[in-house]
This record gives sequence, structure tokens and C-alpha cells, in this order.
Amino acid sequence: MKKITGQQIRELWLKFFKEKGHAQIESSSLIPHGDPTLLWINSGVAALKDYFDGTTIPNNRRLVNVQKSIRTNDIENVGYTARHHTFFEMLGNFSIGDYFRQEMVPWAIELLTSPDYYDMPLDKLYFTYHPSDLDTYNTWIKAGVDQSHLIPLEGNYWEIGEGPAGPNTEVFFDRGPKYDPENKGIELLKEDIDNDRYVEIWGIVFSQFNAKKGVKREDYEQLPFKNIDTGAGLERIACVLQDTPTNFETDLFMPIIKELEQISQVKYEENLMAFRVIADHIRALTFALSDGATFANEGRGYVLRRLLRRAMRFGQKINIEEPFLSDLVDIVVSKYEGFYPTVALNVNNIKKTINDEEVRFISTLKSGETLLQSVLEKSKNVSGDDAFKLYDTYGFPFDLTKEIVLEQGGSVDEERFNQLLEEQRIRARSARVDAASMATQSRDLLNFTSESTFLYNNLNEIKTKVIGLFKGGEKVGSLQESGEIVVETTNFYAESGGQVGDEGVISGENFNAR
Ligand code: ATP
Ligand code: MG
Repeated sequence: MKKITGQQIRELWLKFFKEKGHAQIESSSLIPHGDPTLLWINSGVAALKDYFDGTTIPNNRRLVNVQKSIRTNDIENVGYTARHHTFFEMLGNFSIGDYFRQEMVPWAIELLTSPDYYDMPLDKLYFTYHPSDLDTYNTWIKAGVDQSHLIPLEGNYWEIGEGPAGPNTEVFFDRGPKYDPENKGIELLKEDIDNDRYVEIWGIVFSQFNAKKGVKREDYEQLPFKNIDTGAGLERIACVLQDTPTNFETDLFMPIIKELEQISQVKYEENLMAFRVIADHIRALTFALSDGATFANEGRGYVLRRLLRRAMRFGQKINIEEPFLSDLVDIVVSKYEGFYPTVALNVNNIKKTINDEEVRFISTLKSGETLLQSVLEKSKNVSGDDAFKLYDTYGFPFDLTKEIVLEQGGSVDEERFNQLLEEQRIRARSARVDAASMATQSRDLLNFTSESTFLYNNLNEIKTKVIGLFKGGEKVGSLQESGEIVVETTNFYAESGGQVGDEGVISGENFNAR
């Protein structure tokens, strides 16, 4: 294998799929537009939902991208595993009703093993597939994979509620017994045991069925359009090709870690965890803020607040007591602006926003400590309710409460605290719409054609005629509250292939809508 940089990995990915007739689409913003079901864009396909549910048909049915992604559900994994980040880049290729399995599988082998591309040894690669999906098994065999490298896994089926669904196949790279302390070997993969030896580098979804409630999987109908969506983690491929112990020693993170060594005067080797968490979180913060997110007490902004506070807590572990995260923004930007020019547009703003938030958190910590002391004066044993109030209302971290209470020989009712936390989580969950669902392919929308025209020269206000009304993709005669409206002429423009739409108001004789 040849050692290549993160940037070369991106370039080779794009080059490979462009040579196979794919059109490159730019990474869209981390903040989903017009999609209330999703807090963050968390994969390449999440940015392309309109193409996948048939709402929009792209000019080119073969697409390739490198998509900024945030997965907050992986926050606790950061630093514990070698391979999880909150912010990462997903390399993707997509077929919107175009090529399928027979093309995809040999291409995957070519890209991964060809000396012109990633040049990985085939005997280090393992492939999982769904036991029912013999088509995929046979296609890997035909492409030269040995049967001992094909692992059936029940979990390899992609389905989120109703709508497009299908089997998937995943590519793993075997990093060897060095990363397998109990010497379990291929059992790790077969038994689906969490491990850093076989690293999942690429997931390929064959979206070919229409999932329906109450219908058994084997009875799902085939989709009118079969799609392929794939996602490969840039940082993980870099880790494999650069042969580093974790993703963090690759060129995608080391400059940030080096800078943090300067700031803290502590060596990376002396506190791996703290460096990894901080390097991870500052990338997420920089990119999220540059895409327009802000700190807040709920939703997206709360995620950012948590990331910042967590990074600061780990900063304390390497002796940093002052605001420091904003000092890492420049190095992140200089590392990434080549590929993502927009990240450089607001550097000063990003730095100031982060610094203000750091200052605010430091004062939160101070007032939280004072409050906790007054609780402790009444009793050494702190109730779950008091600890939760400190956490929820004052933003005082629970582990800090615990630490201080223990130091003073008292105890905290952790069980009650966790119960209150869980209740709060349930409230937050039900406040969100059913997560991550993708709309079912809508026949009504697929069948609807119109000759809508775009008016360039009248951007403020136009008069037009409504020619179609839809609710959740179904044709309707009237609309209340929310839905989709098709008009004959429009001055609303959809940028970036429909990712970023204009916003505005539509009104008629007896209606008004945003
Ligand atoms: P894992 O089981 O390792 O968490 P996943 O099944 O959640 O991975 P997918 O949703 O299939 O992963 O995402 C596609 C690819 O994106 C993965 O093969 C992996 O290379 C990468 N990836 C997924 N989650 C992360 C993450 N948190 N950090 C870095 N890369 C990731
Ligand atoms: Mg995962």
C-alpha cells in the first residue's frame, strides 16, 4: 500500500467515480434544509433525500460526493474507539435508478485494490452481506473475493420505517492481530463484536424494496427505481492507508494535535483521550458554526454547547484552565479550507463565538460550584433532584458534581439523577418527529409533470397559478397547515441541486402561507 494524504484520498475517490460517468456534487451544509426529521446531515445520502424518494430527478443519475457529516450519537465513542468521530467526512457514490449491484461490486474492488487508486491488498479485505442476499454474495465471488472473506450478518439490512429498503454489504479492512488483544480473529466479525481490528471502511446499500408496515420482508415489492447509496469514512481510509494506530494519527488530525501540544505544554502520548476528544470536537464546532449553527439551549445549538463543554472538561485534564478552543480554529481552517473554501469565510466570527461561549461556561462552572457548596452545607449527601437541577438549569456537569461531593466525603443519588435524565430524554425525543425516516417513493409525485418556469428577473414578487397540491407526497384537493404546492411560474430558486431553497411567502384570496 502507498501512503497517501487525506486530500489524495478525496481526489482519488472523485476521480474514480467521475471516470465512471458520475457527476460531482458539492458537500451540502451540515444543517439540513427543509428536513425537520434530521438535526444534522449525518451521511452522504442524507443530503440527497429528494433524489432518493423520487421528489426530484437529477440531471445525472450517477452522483459522487464528499459530504461533511455529524453524528452526535457517536459522541461517547470518540477517543474510546480508534474510528469514531462526531464530525467526519463521508465519501459517497450514488445511483438514482441507474446502475446496480453488477456494476457496483466490481467497481468497489477496483477502487480499493487497483495500484492506481487505494492499492489495498485484497486479502486484507472482508465483506459482510445479508444471509438472504445471495446475489451480493455471488457478485463478490465473481469479482475475485475468496469465500472465506465473505461473512453473512443478519444486521445487514437497511430499513428505516416505511419506504426504500434493502440489503447492504459492508467492507472491512483487517488491521491484524496487533489490534486484537484477545486473539479472536474472524470471530470478531462473525459475532459482530465491537473491535478495532476489522475496521468498517465502506457501506453499500442496495435500495431495491419498498418497506411497508405489516408486510414481511420477503414480501416487500420491488421499487420502481432501484437505487444505490454508499458511504465510506475518509478518516478510516486514511488510518488504513497511513497505517496509524487510530484515525487520530493521520494527517487529518495531527496538525490539530500538535497545536494543542503547544497550547497545553502536555504531550499527546501522555493523555491520548483528552487530545482526541478535543481535536474531534473542535473540528465539529468549527464546521458547524461555519455552516451557520449557533450555541443554544436546545436542539442543534445544545449539541454544540455539549461538545464545547466536553472539550473544555478534557482541556482541564491537560491543565488548561483558560479559554483555548478558539485558538485551535485557525489550524482547523488552514487544514480544510483547500477542500472546503467556505470554512474560511467567517473565521473571526467563529473564533469569537467559541471564545464567548468558553467564557460563559467558565462562569457557569464558578456559579455552579458556589451553588453546590451551599447544597453541601445543608447535607453531605446530595439528592438526585439537586444534582439534576444543577445540571439541567445551571449547566453544571454531573461528573463534576460527583467529583466534588466525593472529595468532601459525601454521596450523590446517581440512580435518581439518571431517572430524571432519562425522563428528560424521553420528553426531548417525543418532541422530535420520528427520526431519520425517508419519505416513501410517491407515485403521485413521480407521475406529476409540469412545465413550471423560473422567472429570473422578478425576484421580489410574482403572480402565478397553483397547479398541484400534495400532502406527504399524495395528491390532495386542498391543504391545511402544511404541504407541498406546485405553481406555474416561480421566483424561488433551488441552489446546489435543490439542497438550498429560497424561503418566502405565498398568499391568495383567502390564504396565507410561509
Ligand atoms: P460503525 O458501525 O463503525 O459505527 P456505521 O455502520 O455506523 O459504522 P455507516 O452508517 O454505514 O457506518 O456509514 C458509512 C461509513 O461511514 C462507515 O463505513 C464508516 O467508514 C464511516 N463512519 C460511520 N460513522 C462514523 C463516525 N462516527 N466517524 C467516522 N467515520 C464514520
Ligand atoms: Mg455507527
